[in-house]
Amino acid sequence: MSEERNGALLSCIIPAYNEEEMIPRTAAKLTEVLDGAGIPFELLFINDGSRDGTWAQILAAADADPRIHGICFSRNFGKESAMFAGLEKAAGDCCVVLDCDLQHPPEKIPEMYRLWQDGFDVVEGIKNTRGDETAFYRFSAGTFYRLISRTSGIDMEASSDFKLLDRKVVDTLNRMPERNVFFRALSYWVGFRKTEVSYDVQSRPAGNSKWSTRSLIRYALNNICSFSSWPLHLVTFLGVIALIIALVFSVETLIRVAMGNSLGGFPTVIILLLFMSSLIMISLGIIGFYIERIYEEVKGRPRYIISEYR
Ligand code: UDP
Ligand code: MG
Repeated sequence: MSEERNGALLSCIIPAYNEEEMIPRTAAKLTEVLDGAGIPFELLFINDGSRDGTWAQILAAADADPRIHGICFSRNFGKESAMFAGLEKAAGDCCVVLDCDLQHPPEKIPEMYRLWQDGFDVVEGIKNTRGDETAFYRFSAGTFYRLISRTSGIDMEASSDFKLLDRKVVDTLNRMPERNVFFRALSYWVGFRKTEVSYDVQSRPAGNSKWSTRSLIRYALNNICSFSSWPLHLVTFLGVIALIIALVFSVETLIRVAMGNSLGGFPTVIILLLFMSSLIMISLGIIGFYIERIYEEVKGRPRYIISEYR
């Protein structure tokens, strides 16, 4: 164990969106586990523009225990922004990010903390089971992670946002200028000494999942776009295929002309026209998607706006 990691402060970063029922439970559970393990800690709840009493619950918890702090966003900015706000405000020598719904078991944190004390900089939580998810969710999440693992070269199939990061990793992440952040992949991408702990996804004690199918699809597309330019290469690839087809048909047409029967082939013209215009539109769409991301980055608006802090 390295000297400076002895008795070091752990910051727990907990994004919360409409979790009023979960705040007191999560705070109590974390306090119990961490006090039991003798780890000095602070809890940092981020209220991501909840429409229920989440902020009031965070304030109540903060009043009861000076080690509990809260950040309140001016509106809903999404979990990614909430995690990054937490990383920016955290005072700890290491930070652990976990969900407010206790699906990431707090009992694992002492084990992660010990690994960090042994000198690891990134301790990743790896899912053993995916818990009680619907078959559709499992299928789409599986497809998404396979796709992103393949396109970005980052293996993420079992990974989650449940991670413990050393201060230098947190500082590195805080220095990243991009607006469109993807915590799970970025914390992998930065490198450093890594290790893993596996955990069983728990079932949610109260409230429900905040993801709709639509938000999952948008999340998937954004993250593929920010970690891979493979869709753009697909456009080029399709263009080459279309060129080859065009050459074959041109030769055929020229032969027909030479043989004096250039009329006919009208269905072919229609099919080709429809086919090519759809290809062009899809390609423009893909390019447009990247331009939209570039535009968002160029505007340089903040990732989140904090309305209250304590
Ligand atoms: N969350 C958030 N902002 C959002 C959506 C979710 O901060 O816009 C938080 C939520 O409160 C929870 C965590 O992100 O602590 C995971 O959300 P959820 O349990 O809904 O996701 P799932 O476990 O189904 O992936
Ligand atoms: Mg959850």
